[in-house]
Amino acid sequence: MKMKIKIQFIRKQIQILRVIIQAIFMSGLILAFMPQYNPIGKYLFLTILLLGVFFCGWVCPFGSLQDWTAKLARFLKLPRYQVPDKFQKYLQLARYAFYAFGTLGIAFAFLNARKIFNHDLFAGKLTLTAGIILGLFILASLFIDRPFCNYFCTKGAYYGLFSVLRIFGIARDENKCIHCHLCDKKCPMNIKIEKNKFIRHPNCINCLTCVSVCPKKCISYKLNRNTQATAEKTIH
Ligand code: SF4
Ligand code: SF4
Ligand code: SF4
Repeated sequence: MKMKIKIQFIRKQIQILRVIIQAIFMSGLILAFMPQYNPIGKYLFLTILLLGVFFCGWVCPFGSLQDWTAKLARFLKLPRYQVPDKFQKYLQLARYAFYAFGTLGIAFAFLNARKIFNHDLFAGKLTLTAGIILGLFILASLFIDRPFCNYFCTKGAYYGLFSVLRIFGIARDENKCIHCHLCDKKCPMNIKIEKNKFIRHPNCINCLTCVSVCPKKCISYKLNRNTQATAEKTIH
């Protein structure tokens, strides 16, 4: 019984904890690490294969800014929009196209938000174009969740590709689920959680919002014991 109460408490507080950690990394970036911030991303990158992309949900300053803008919009009761599924499944491929172009050295270097925030901004190298584009994405976050992360970020695409083999992830207990779709509606990366038992979607940023909002507490972050599960099964 005591254990149940404890888990429930953690579920409720986990988003507060996430905001605190995001703020620590943001202030660390601004006040202390500045251009030396990149090694943190490198160490976290090593964990992606095992744990998924915690960097995007808990550390990346541009991801945090989009989250906080969305919180402000909700506080101001601005209308929020979710991209319909029929468009989402194609649009979410866009960042992989940008990544491919970027990898070939053709274009889109200015869309590397992580580099801009971890280095260019504080090294005085932020170009006007990059600043305006990223500013527009912050404005767009007033109306849709994480627009840059969802459709444009080449770094997020790169991390996501490594995360599809993750061993720990988001698991849904089908027996307890009441199919209320709250998890789907609240997922900032528009992942269809309610259709899956275990999420290995490359867009998952491990924000654990789905864990916090599920009214039946049937979503958890845990080891996937089903070795037969494939990444394809979890990508919709
Ligand atoms: S997808 Fe890109 S911008 Fe978004 S949190 Fe991840 S690295 Fe940062
Ligand atoms: S929020 Fe929980 S109960 Fe509702 S659909 Fe998602 S998993 Fe099922
Ligand atoms: S599936 Fe859950 S943890 Fe992953 S991005 Fe969506 S809400 Fe966050």
